[in-house]
Amino acid sequence: MPYIEDFLTTEEEQEIVEAIRVAECDTSGEIRVHIEQNCDIDVYERSLEVFHILKMDNTKQQNGVLIYVAVDNKSFVIYGDQGINNIVGPDFWNSTRDKISLQFKTGNFKQGIIDGIKEAGQVLSKHFPWVHGDSDELDNTISKG
Ligand code: CA
Ligand code: CA
Repeated sequence: MPYIEDFLTTEEEQEIVEAIRVAECDTSGEIRVHIEQNCDIDVYERSLEVFHILKMDNTKQQNGVLIYVAVDNKSFVIYGDQGINNIVGPDFWNSTRDKISLQFKTGNFKQGIIDGIKEAGQVLSKHFPWVHGDSDELDNTISKG
């Protein structure tokens, strides 16, 4: 796997940020992407930690979704907040995960992340439609650890 600096080009990062912006036009939910080189603990545990560190558990409707990527571990987690999971149940993210996996397997990291963002945005928009006066509660930029 590449170093975190080379994982995505600047252009690819911009495309991802744009995909988040577009997805959030249809939902009050908030999507964030966090990428780090290496994860020493269970990636799921770590994604929870990152979720908290990024203050993603502070959204009004508890509808933040984190796509967490650990480059060396060749692993990623998609983690949705309580407000979403209460409605949709635990298997909810399986199809999103499969879409990301498919692209990651062939090294198309940017496309995998964008597919994940689109899918998460679509599902969020069903349960948390965009409402007038909605604010961008969480920054759309990619967070790096
Ligand atoms: Ca919002
Ligand atoms: Ca946002």
